Amino acid sequence: MTYCKKCGGSVSPEEQYCRTCGNRVAQPKPYSDQKTSNRSKLVAGLLGVLIGSWGIHNFYLGNIGKGILQIFLTSVTFGIAGIWGFIEGILILCDRITVDGKGQPLV
Ligand SMILES: [Zn+2]
Repeated sequence: MTYCKKCGGSVSPEEQYCRTCGNRVAQPKPYSDQKTSNRSKLVAGLLGVLIGSWGIHNFYLGNIGKGILQIFLTSVTFGIAGIWGFIEGILILCDRITVDGKGQPLV
């Protein structure tokens, strides 16, 4: 139960306006379903730039399948495909990739 700031009347949580005086009652912010990732953008980006050819940043972000694919491609192309991980590292650092493998925003 919240209370109207104007008249002091009680307002039930699902109501936005005071029934007594019509004053708009500030609602507490609803908890967002979207949790922030506990993974760091900086760490992920640096992993991508430094050793991204081995998909380490994708393992860090929880993109396991992508990480394995990068290891595989880097192996079969003798490192040429490693540029992919490097570019992803840059994209993470430049805010072009902003979520982890679960779609949660990086911190
Ligand atoms: Zn009121």
